Amino acid sequence: MDYTKNGLNYNREQLLSLVRQQMSEQRFEHVLRVEQTALQLAKQYHADEVKVSASALLHDYGKERDDKVYLEMIDQNPEYENLRAFGNNIWHGILGSQLVKKELSLDNDEILHAIAVHTTGDINMTLLDKIIFVADYIEPKRSFYGLDSVRDLVANGDLNQAISLILQQTLMFLVKNKKIIYPYTIEVYNHWIKI
Ligand code: GDP
Ligand code: FE
Ligand code: FE
Repeated sequence: MDYTKNGLNYNREQLLSLVRQQMSEQRFEHVLRVEQTALQLAKQYHADEVKVSASALLHDYGKERDDKVYLEMIDQNPEYENLRAFGNNIWHGILGSQLVKKELSLDNDEILHAIAVHTTGDINMTLLDKIIFVADYIEPKRSFYGLDSVRDLVANGDLNQAISLILQQTLMFLVKNKKIIYPYTIEVYNHWIKI
């Protein structure tokens, strides 16, 4: 994998080590499973394997960062104010992509966008965004309700229907567990549920 043509200054070994330093061994193993799943999808759906690999390895880079770091980013940037109430689950994608950009000097907007939207999805998703979003949900050790139906859709070439079902199931999960819902999560759901 040559990441350097994609705005990344690290080879694979360096990148793996940088990502590993950011998280528990358990989460690092999740990241590797997301990468393997995403690479299978890249083959199936004809996506750029290098961008898919880099995005997958970096998607949860900010997941174990202290809340203080994110609250400071929000304090310093008024455009992030709407994120304040939603916690790490929402911050680690949108703001985590900014940590990747700064700390790893990653200059690739496609990869940064895939990281930014990996939790909520987006109204406009590129193939790269879709692959990371879906791979994160279906990696082999996940055990969500309804996962088999999502995996069947993916296997049958219906990536968009898979996204629609993931968004429906995630929203149901959040409501059922009395979780606070980020308004954009609902906007994204409204967009994809009609397809
Ligand atoms: P992970 O980082 O690999 O665990 O996976 P994700 O980044 O996809 O999701 C992290 C968590 O955020 C999951 O438990 C999702 O259900 C949850 N999540 C997704 N949307 C929202 C939301 O709008 N509000 C809250 N509170 N959690 C959300
Ligand atoms: Fe995540
Ligand atoms: Fe993840």
